Parts: sequence; structure tokens; C-alpha cells
Amino acid sequence: ARDSLYQSQKLEAIGKLTGGVAHDFNNLLSVITNGLDLLRPIVKDPEGAGLITSMEKAAMRGASLTNQLLTFARQQPVTPEPRDLNRVITAFEPVLRRATRSSVKFEIHVAGQLPAVMVDVALFETALLNLVVNANDATLDGGSISVATAAVQLREGEIGRLAEGSYVVVSVGDTGSGMTEEVIARAIEPFFTTKAVGKGTGLGLSQVYGMVQQFGGDLKITSQVAQGTTVALYFPVSTEEAVEDSLPPPSDKVLIV
Ligand code: ADP
Repeated sequence: ARDSLYQSQKLEAIGKLTGGVAHDFNNLLSVITNGLDLLRPIVKDPEGAGLITSMEKAAMRGASLTNQLLTFARQQPVTPEPRDLNRVITAFEPVLRRATRSSVKFEIHVAGQLPAVMVDVALFETALLNLVVNANDATLDGGSISVATAAVQLREGEIGRLAEGSYVVVSVGDTGSGMTEEVIARAIEPFFTTKAVGKGTGLGLSQVYGMVQQFGGDLKITSQVAQGTTVALYFPVSTEEAVEDSLPPPSDKVLIV
């Protein structure tokens, strides 16, 4: 088992380091994309236009990576509030669905009633999207991905270092490639990835882990090679009532990885 104190110190150090660089890099990228915008109407030949398109794609990929680093460095203000995760997930469903291929079955199973948990909605949504993107990457056509919620009672030590008590669990399950023991052990390490260069950053699960820890919870990865994977997030139940304000549309504040 990885030492979680060591993990969070590592996360913090890397977060500080990358936050500043990512911010400056984003500004440089906008100089490039703005320049390409201006060039497009001037460049007439097809080869040149093709070049502009691939440069734009590369810049977008760069922007997506730096956005991930910024989220990772937690530069956004975090506002934990008591939330009903069923409502949060249901409102977010269209974004999750768009992150999956049409050849993969995508389902959401929410528990009848959930007690409130303290989370920052934007951070939670980004984490959930990361899990669904990973599931989509791992799953072949015809496979399935399901997001489920439940209220559970945990015994002391049943999940990581979580104390005995009531929790809300949000799990993302897939029928994909699964992970070996070695990959499971390293999966939440920042920058650990088995994906091709340019495809994976290795920041998804460490981000998810950072988020769930920040709200006093933990995560558990269950996986079988060639069978599939389930990542379960546990959040301690709040004594407060869930806030009922209408959720803002998610599209603007969430990063597609
Ligand atoms: P990335 O997705 O950029 O590689 P992550 O931190 O999200 O970074 O994941 C780390 C690694 O964990 C992945 O490269 C992959 O090997 C493994 N992994 C994560 N989610 C899944 C999943 N649902 N099924 C199989 N492997 C997974």
C-alpha cells in the first residue's frame, strides 16, 4: 500500500511547481492561437491551411494539458458545500455521456435517497469526468460504463484509513481492459500513465485522489485484467442539509481531458 501522507506531500510539491509554469504557458499558447486565427484568412493554399489546422490542434492539446495542471495545482477557489450527489450527477449526465463513445453503453444508477456530503461541485465534476474518460479509454466497443451512487455504513479500516461511519459512495465501473496489481498500486501516482505519449498525462487519478482526500474521503480501485475496473469514491456524510440552489450549467468550468 502507498503511504498516503507521502502521496499528498508529493501532490502538494508538484502542484506548487506546476501551477506557476502552467499559468505562464497558457498565456503563451493564447498568443499562438490568436496568431493562427489571424493567419487563417490570409493563407490560401490547402497545404498551408492544413498546417494551420494541425498547429491549432497541437495548441489545443497544450491548453488542455495546462488546464489539467492548473486544476491539479488547485489554483481555483474551493468552496465545499453540503450537496446531494444524486442531483449533482444527474445535472452533469450530458457531459459524462458526451465523454463516452456511442458504441459503449453508458448508464447512471442513483440511489433512491442520499444524505448530503461536503464537496466542491466543480472539483467533484472534474474528478467524475476523469473517471469516465479513463473508463471510456479502457473499454472496447460493445462494453459498458456505469456510474452509481449509494449510502453505505463503513467499519473502521474497511476502506483505507476511513473511520467508522456513514458515507456516500460514488463508483464508476467499466467492462474494460482492467489493471494489473502493479498498475493498481501506482495508478494514483502523479504522472504515472500507461497510455501513449500525448494521450495520457498520468494526472487524472491523482487529481481524483487529491479531491476525495480534500473532502475527508478516500478511494478504492477494484480491477481484474480483461474483466474491468471499478473506482469507488467515499465521502463522509455531512450533518448539514444539502443546499438546494439550482446547479449552474457545468460545461464552462469542466475540463475535457
Ligand atoms: P492517464 O489516464 O492520463 O494515464 P490516470 O492517472 O487517470 O492518468 O490513470 C493512470 C493509469 O491508470 C492509466 O494510464 C491506466 O493505465 C490506469 N487506469 C486508470 N483508469 C483505468 C480504467 N478504468 N481501466 C483500466 N486502466 C485504468
